[in-house]
Order: sequence, then structure tokens, then C-alpha cells
Amino acid sequence: VSERFPSFKSDVFQTARGAMYLRGPGVCLISQPQVDLEAVGDEFLSGFADDLGFESYNDDIHGYDVDPSSALCKFAGQLCYLSFGENRTKSTPAGLSKYFDNIKHSGHGSVLEHANFSFLIYGVSRSFTHELVRHRSGMGYSQVSQRYVNGDALRFVERLEFQGDPFLHGRFEANCDSWSFEYEQLAEYLTEIQSRGAKELTADSKRDLRKKVNQVARENLPNAAEAPIVVTGNARAWRHILEMRASEHAEVQIRRTAMMLHSCLLEVAPKLFEDYEVKSLADGTQVLSTKYRKV
Ligand SMILES: Cc1cc2nc3c(=O)[nH]c(=O)nc-3n(C[C@H](O)[C@H](O)[C@H](O)COP(=O)(O)OP(=O)(O)OC[C@H]3O[C@@H](n4cnc5c(N)ncnc54)[C@H](O)[C@@H]3O)c2cc1C
Repeated sequence: VSERFPSFKSDVFQTARGAMYLRGPGVCLISQPQVDLEAVGDEFLSGFADDLGFESYNDDIHGYDVDPSSALCKFAGQLCYLSFGENRTKSTPAGLSKYFDNIKHSGHGSVLEHANFSFLIYGVSRSFTHELVRHRSGMGYSQVSQRYVNGDALRFVERLEFQGDPFLHGRFEANCDSWSFEYEQLAEYLTEIQSRGAKELTADSKRDLRKKVNQVARENLPNAAEAPIVVTGNARAWRHILEMRASEHAEVQIRRTAMMLHSCLLEVAPKLFEDYEVKSLADGTQVLSTKYRKV
């Protein structure tokens, strides 16, 4: 969609009876660092002795076309040793690769924690999010409530294995219809018995009723129910997730998503993610590998 905020769209399908489903993950990068080092040059670096040559760092601030995440992490890393003089590693493309290779090689991954990226991930199932949220360190999540959201926005996710097989695909579509129907029936019945006897429901009791109904009706849904999620992580944490999940040992849905996440991250922060090599497996799916694991 845009160079600065890349995304992968997932199309929505419908059964003949109107149940909605998706066939794979959709991924949208929705937030990334915005960096302005102007004041660093003007107010901080200019305050040291001239012979240190710190003002030459202004070339790194203004002189090269550096993505914001790399500029941020490099400045933070160079602050550690006050490496702002002429002998520093410059922000040329080759200099940036050298700088971040060294960070990755030496395992000084904490400087990568300054760059945060948020994604909306949809077209994924509850099984997927159950696995993803196990990554705690450096990550934040917001996912669809199991209590506030009713059946109107219900969608399902068809597994890859079902898509090329007419029998499995047919079963899946029939199940989508039956899951939706069951949800509706259950919600209707629960609403009826919960409100029986009450003359009038206040706004609070209506909300409370909706929660009680939804949490019970949702419990009956399969793992294939869609569970959109907003995920924020720093570059170090995302790297760990890519290594764990874009792997042949990972489940296929989360692996596909990890490959998409990597493509987006590589587009906007190439120097932080360029060491990953894409490899194809015999089954046609792809995985990532790097010599710098767990920086
Ligand atoms: C192929 C595969 C199969 C899996 N199968 C199962 C399974 O069958 N059952 C199951 O329960 N889980 C399973 N998992 C989940 C797995 O055990 C981890 O919970 C998940 O991958 C999160 O990774 P992480 O533990 O590295 O944590 P993250 O939160 O991603 O943390 C990153 C790193 O920070 C450090 N860290 C984070 N939290 C702590 C802490 N509390 N104490 C010390 N160090 C910490 C660790 O070094 C950790 O590796 C599987 C994962 C994969 C990739």
C-alpha cells in the first residue's frame, strides 16, 4: 500500500449462506519510529570541545538517507562510547551495515530495543494468537475481546491444508455456516433467559447482559474463529519472534505471518533485518535463517 507502511491484504470470502471467512493472514504495519536528531546536533554535540570533532556527526544526521529506526538505534548505540568524532562508523550504506553487523555479532541487542513497530494482524485464528502472545519480552498486545464483541462481526479462518482439497473446503464452508448458526441460536436463547422477568434494562444492565451472553456463546466457537490482534514490539523482540516462528518447526499459519512481518520490517528498517536469508522448503513454504540469532 505504501513504501513507508507496507501491508499484505487478505481477501474476505463468503459461504452461500453468508458466513464470512479469510484464507490467510493480513498484515499491516501501522506504526514505526519517527526520528528528529536536529536538537542532538544543535544542542548536545555542539557543547563539547571542538577538537573532539563531534559536530561532524551532523553529516550522519543530515547527510545520508537513513531510515528512522536505524538512525535512532545507531545514535543510541554510539552514545554509549560517545562515538561522534571523525573516526566513528559513518551512516553511509556500507557504514550502517558494518555498524549493525557488529551489534548483531557482539550480541549488544539492547540498542535495537529503541525501535518499535506496531502491526495489525488479521485473518488469523485464535490458535494463532494463543501461540503469538507467548512472546512476552518487549511485546504488547490488544486483541478482540471474548466478552464485548457479538456475533455480527464473526469471521473464520480457513487453514491452508483445506484450501486445495474440495472435500475439506466443503466441510469448512459447511462448518462456518453451522458455527454461525449455533452462535446466533445460543446468543438468542441466552439473551431471552437472562432478560426474562426484567421489566426494563438500563444501559449498564444491557452491557452486562451483552457480556454474559457473548462470553458464553463465544466459548462454543472453534479455534478457527478469527482473532484480529494489534501487536507492538521492539526490533530485538521482533527478531526473536522471526527466528522462532519463521522456522520449519513452527506451525504453518504463524510461519506465513512471520515471513510477511519480515518483508514489512525489511522494507522500512533494512539494516536491522537484512541478515535474514529466505529459504524455501520442499513443501513450497519459506523460512528464515541468520548467523546472528538472539542478539
Ligand atoms: C516450534 C515451537 C513449538 C512450541 N511448542 C510449545 C508447546 O508445545 N507448549 C508450550 O507451552 N509452548 C510451546 N511453544 C512456545 C515456547 O515454549 C515459548 O513460550 C514461546 O516461543 C515464547 O518464546 P520465549 O520463551 O523465548 O519468550 P519471549 O517472551 O519471546 O522472550 C524472549 C527471550 O527473553 C527471555 N525471557 C523472557 N521471559 C523470561 C523470563 N520470564 N525469565 C527469563 N528469561 C526470559 C528469554 O531469553 C526469551 O527467549 C512452542 C514454540 C515454538 C516456536
